[in-house]
Amino acid sequence: MPDYTELTFKKPSELLIPKRPCVCGCGEVFQTRNKTQMFKTGHDTRLKSLLTKVFKGEAPTDQIPRIALENHERIKFLRVNADMAAAMAKGLALL
Ligand SMILES: [Zn+2]
Repeated sequence: MPDYTELTFKKPSELLIPKRPCVCGCGEVFQTRNKTQMFKTGHDTRLKSLLTKVFKGEAPTDQIPRIALENHERIKFLRVNADMAAAMAKGLALL
């Protein structure tokens, strides 16, 4: 007899929430009604950490995920962090 206790059913309202890919480069998809949310919860930290490393020369520029580069104009923290924005600009120059 299979164990169905782990099965959950989504409410129709949840099925209508748009899915979008996380732009940190993890390849995961998340659901949100917030049109400006670009990252799965907590994943902005991954990209911030990578960009800081690229800025300091501790990580290669080509490690910046393509999805992050393509969506850079919508990533809010780049507007307030000049170092991370500079690292992103280096990545964009490689495209
Ligand atoms: Zn992610």
